[in-house]
Amino acid sequence: MSETTKLICITCPMGCTLEVTRQGETIVEVTGTGCKRGLAYAQAELTDPRRMVASTVRVRGGVHPLVPVYTDAPFPKPQILELLAELRQVELEAPVRTGQVVLPRALGTDVNIRASRDLPAED
Ligand code: SF4
Repeated sequence: MSETTKLICITCPMGCTLEVTRQGETIVEVTGTGCKRGLAYAQAELTDPRRMVASTVRVRGGVHPLVPVYTDAPFPKPQILELLAELRQVELEAPVRTGQVVLPRALGTDVNIRASRDLPAED
């Protein structure tokens, strides 16, 4: 017996509404895609959903107390809350450089957390 699920593709601003028909774990049809990336999105979303994550971490001795950080690849969605809790424990020492790895291989994944801007030390 097949089951149909609706998804909004978030790969680009078009936001196509996809209708995904599955039989068990197998995707048998995807309609509503504006391009072929919609099919890849539907497959990933139903098997290994991931999101880019942006947050901040504390910095000691910097011109600001926090620096923005981001995942350098999409991160497993079920582990995002755990990742945010882990980032609250991180404290860097200024200066911080753009792209600096703040948390390597976060939570045992292949995703690094990196600083998204320079943060100089205070004078
Ligand atoms: S299916 Fe293609 S056009 Fe539609 S939102 Fe996804 S990436 Fe954009």
